[in-house]
Amino acid sequence: MAHAQLLEEKINPFHIAQQQLDKAAAILKLDSGIHTALRQPAREMHVTLTIKMDDGSCRTFNAYRVQYNDARGPNKGGIRFHPEETIDTVRALAAWMTWKCAVVDIPLGGGKGGIICDPKSLSETELERLSRAYVRAISRFIGPDKDIPAPDVYTTPQIMAWMMDEYSTIVGHHAPGVITGKPLAIGGSAGRGDATARGGAYTVREAAEHLGLDLKSSTVAIQGFGNAGQYAATLFHDLLGCRIVAVSDTRGGVYNPGGLDPQALVNEKRRTGTVANFPGAQQISNDELLELDVEVLAPSALEEVITEHNASRIRANIIAELANGPTTPAADEILFNNNVFVIPDFLCNAGGVTVSYFEWVQNSSGYYWEEAEVHHRLDRKMTEAFRAVLNTSTEFGVDMRTAAYMVSIQRVAEAMKLRGWV
Ligand code: GLU
Repeated sequence: MAHAQLLEEKINPFHIAQQQLDKAAAILKLDSGIHTALRQPAREMHVTLTIKMDDGSCRTFNAYRVQYNDARGPNKGGIRFHPEETIDTVRALAAWMTWKCAVVDIPLGGGKGGIICDPKSLSETELERLSRAYVRAISRFIGPDKDIPAPDVYTTPQIMAWMMDEYSTIVGHHAPGVITGKPLAIGGSAGRGDATARGGAYTVREAAEHLGLDLKSSTVAIQGFGNAGQYAATLFHDLLGCRIVAVSDTRGGVYNPGGLDPQALVNEKRRTGTVANFPGAQQISNDELLELDVEVLAPSALEEVITEHNASRIRANIIAELANGPTTPAADEILFNNNVFVIPDFLCNAGGVTVSYFEWVQNSSGYYWEEAEVHHRLDRKMTEAFRAVLNTSTEFGVDMRTAAYMVSIQRVAEAMKLRGWV
């Protein structure tokens, strides 16, 4: 990360989430009682986890689970393992999960969890003990009908497997529906691995059609090369026919205007842990990547990378937000005025939770679908959501993020009213 951004304090992500909500609520003339209720999480847990380390010492970790709103169904959302996790980040992410499930119209509420830790410095056995300790700490408050966690930043199908096993042991029966993103062999869904990127690809396809942009001659830059970024590189190339010209991870990025081979990048990442030294490409920083002259820019890592400091230099036609919260409200305004078409995070990356929902449905019926069926249903969900948001954006003359909020808020508010909460 370069100069300006490092000097700037990160804006509290929960304040950003509240600000975004306030903006849409004002346009909707939302009832002030409902608005106030939607500005806060319904419940949050702060837990302390002490585990034995491999060297015989013990260590204590702080962790959270936030349940934001369950008017439309059980809370749903991932768990992050990150050294810079904060309760306010988890609150924001739980709020965004509420809007995400509503925008794709799945019967789930919003939640999120996080453990403050550096997973890269923990051994496999330490990670397992930490994952199990987390489930023990919150076991009474999660479950297939209460709150269903999933993977997020630095959590994997293996971690989901340990968590599901711990929960099943506590409740005394097989309970695969307590968590999604599990490995296939123990109740995972076909198509969950690449679902976030695939859903994002469907929204990019729709956006390009709306803008009259030919994706076959379009270039893509991807910031972040975790689950979402890696699959985005492959799918934006294979499915949409785009040329991937730049990718980056925490250690730096690479750029080749002639195109990078997505599979070779994935292999490089697996082999060396980074794409930063990928041969046959120019090395660039994360900041430089964001400002490249490409048709599609996909921030696919963490929050607040597009801010008022760099938004005016963004040259992409479409920003596909595979990360949660990559753009600040001040940046949003600049992008809107510059005609950059933003596919907002909780729409663009909703493919992950949509296939998580399919996994939960399959777990409850014990009948598992073919991958093609998952893809087909995912495409329908994402396309319908995209069109509902685009229609609202056109009708009210607002940016896509505000439109997405308007669609989601109305759905959550209707559920709250019908239940008699407000
Ligand atoms: N962590 C993912 C997200 O932010 C997926 C959540 C889920 O599948 O519940 O959308």
